[in-house]
Amino acid sequence: QSQELSQVRIDYHAALLALQEQGTRMVCTGKMHTDRVCRFDYLCYCTEAEEFVFFHSNASVMLPNLGPRRFQPALLDLSSVEDHNTQYFNFLELPAAALRYMPKPVFVPDVTLILNRFNADNLMHIFHDDLLPIFYTMQQYMDLDDEARLVFMEGWGEGAHFDLYRLLSSKQPLLKDHLRNFGKLMCFTKSYVGLSKMTTWYQYGFVQPQGPKANILVSGNEIRQFALFMMERLNITKDQRSEDDNYIVVFSRASTRLILNEAELILALAQEFKMRTVTVSLEDQPFDSIVRVISGASMLVSMHGAQLITSMFLPRGAAVIELFPFAVNPEQYTPYKTLASLPGMDLQYVAWRNTIEENSVAYPDRPWDQGGISHLDKEEQERILASKEVSRHLCCRNPEWLFRIYQDTVVDIPSFLEVLRESLKIKPNLKKTRPVSTVHPGRVREPKCQTSVQATNEAKLTVSWQIPWNLKYLKVREVKYEVWIQEQGENTYMPYILPHQNYTFSENIKPFTTYLVWVRCIFNKNLLGPFADVLICKT
Ligand code: UDP
Repeated sequence: QSQELSQVRIDYHAALLALQEQGTRMVCTGKMHTDRVCRFDYLCYCTEAEEFVFFHSNASVMLPNLGPRRFQPALLDLSSVEDHNTQYFNFLELPAAALRYMPKPVFVPDVTLILNRFNADNLMHIFHDDLLPIFYTMQQYMDLDDEARLVFMEGWGEGAHFDLYRLLSSKQPLLKDHLRNFGKLMCFTKSYVGLSKMTTWYQYGFVQPQGPKANILVSGNEIRQFALFMMERLNITKDQRSEDDNYIVVFSRASTRLILNEAELILALAQEFKMRTVTVSLEDQPFDSIVRVISGASMLVSMHGAQLITSMFLPRGAAVIELFPFAVNPEQYTPYKTLASLPGMDLQYVAWRNTIEENSVAYPDRPWDQGGISHLDKEEQERILASKEVSRHLCCRNPEWLFRIYQDTVVDIPSFLEVLRESLKIKPNLKKTRPVSTVHPGRVREPKCQTSVQATNEAKLTVSWQIPWNLKYLKVREVKYEVWIQEQGENTYMPYILPHQNYTFSENIKPFTTYLVWVRCIFNKNLLGPFADVLICKT
């Protein structure tokens, strides 16, 4: 890996001529700034002005051509966090003729993905906001391959886990600060700007309290495929573990939000589950060795915190046990619960919370960003100390939240084990866990209805259909059909779940009435197919 740009030879004069004559070309996907990714030919960046530049010529293209709406509020989000006003992307415009009076451009020959990292010092943010979105944005565009160049424009140094970003392509990622080394005017021959938000599952509470995103578009399958890719790049092979080699991992934190009786907790876990129990921590081990251990574990136990993002490396069937300090409600801080619960992640999730205030050690005198409150006025400090639960709040500087979440905890072993016994319905078991099918039924075919009138107040409605086309190629544990019957003009309907391909309804069926009937197939209780075209049935 090298920071040099000259691995792909380009003809400088041809490139300069192309820039002067063609100018910049941009074509984007997405209707809104929040779902937009743009592809550019010859997007330039002026390192002195710290601005991207779009050069207009007769051959320039700018799609969407938003006019001044490009600034309302921006062309696109440069990070994967939705509509964050410090993460907007735009460019300045110049006529290509201005190039004559400007410093000679340096061309970047690689296909480049330009983005902002959101918080490169926090492992959860690194995975959720950067690595996953980068990985799947690269999958979306064929020329963002292993030779692609990543450019991080948020302006920070490498951060705590820069090596993880290096795994995504064979070229050294560039930081904003590096760009000056190349010259005053850099032009990216081919680049993509922005990130797909398709894989993110959590919002951090900038406009409403934090929680799962409203419309999650990713499943465990995509998370696991990404995790496998990362493991491959870290040279971790899924070793063939023996049946009885089940073990528990306690992920410990060494500086803040400590488990104060870790040894006791480890002993309790080992005894309760009759399993070897090991600890890992970011302070003690390189990241790849942590992933190696976690990828074979039956259970991961950890305080709430960024290190829990590594639960994506757990095998199917494993359990995630998240511990919360006193006065912190687990229901309100669920990035790891949401991850574990994604369909197809196949992880069991359990939260334990400390309800015994005396088992908690707080740090009122620390700096505010580590939960200190001594800078607040007396009244506010007293209110915080008296409160038994942090109420819902916005990100990111709520002192009560920071105070509580940075407490250390003595884990009360009896209550901890009780929660585990109650919640772990099935013993964490890896061998028996096969990925569950996610194949949905097709439409039922040839839906028909037949009606008959028995008497002035008695009628029958027979509905029949053929199995969905894809069913004959599948082994499905349970096939059921759902029929909705609505009397025309009414606004309610009756739903029925049926085991066979026809059924005669007589209850609630009136003579000389029109019914609308919908039929769909259901696999294994929760895989719903589409409804067939509505049937219009007159008795
Ligand atoms: N961290 C750590 N050990 C600690 C405290 C933090 O390894 O004792 C790591 C943590 O995993 C995260 C980063 O340092 O990647 C920032 O931690 P912070 O407490 O600010 O964030 P949180 O874990 O609450 O997301």
